[in-house]
Amino acid sequence: MRIGGTILLCLLLASCGLVDGRSDNRPAPQQRTERLPAPSADLRQCLGNLSRDGVEYTRLPDRNFSRGCRAIGAVQLLQVGVPTRNLGAMTCPLAARYGRWVREVLQPAAQRRFGEQVTLVETFGTYSCRNINGSGRLSEHGKANAIDISAFTLAGGRRITVQEGWRGDRREREFLRELHSGACERFEIVLGPDANADHYNHFHFDMGDRGPYCR
Ligand SMILES: [Zn+2]
Repeated sequence: MRIGGTILLCLLLASCGLVDGRSDNRPAPQQRTERLPAPSADLRQCLGNLSRDGVEYTRLPDRNFSRGCRAIGAVQLLQVGVPTRNLGAMTCPLAARYGRWVREVLQPAAQRRFGEQVTLVETFGTYSCRNINGSGRLSEHGKANAIDISAFTLAGGRRITVQEGWRGDRREREFLRELHSGACERFEIVLGPDANADHYNHFHFDMGDRGPYCR
């Protein structure tokens, strides 16, 4: 009965993909009973931008984890213009840029190049307490300030992965490069398959202060 109810809820909610595949280490969504402190001026302005852009979200309580990992001023996206898998905590600026990239880059590019909307974005997640590969520096993922995007499904069922499509047929190659360059105009750091071997199968977008960098 409970499972049936969940499936029914999924059928009713276009954004159901957003709740798929929760990772264990992401901060728990805000509890109904938990009262959040008033947002800082910056956060209030960012949340206002999200609402104005039509993005639906829940504020998450500030969390500090071990090894300097943290999720401060983060949100859980509920509706951002395309169902997106594996979204955990995201800082508000990251969430806002992602929403804009979906609306201004992803959907127009899909419409123009394939005549279809994107109906699913697959990600490897947002928050994850780890260092940048091969360094002692905390990754922006450890601050809920980065997202790794791996694949896109079009309304007609075509699935385009960064891993195959980056050097795939011409339309997929051009589509993925358009998504990448559009991201470079919106995020601080954008890494793809040409950046290094770690990114052979996904785009990394973050809002850290080490940018701008686009590769
Ligand atoms: Zn990443």
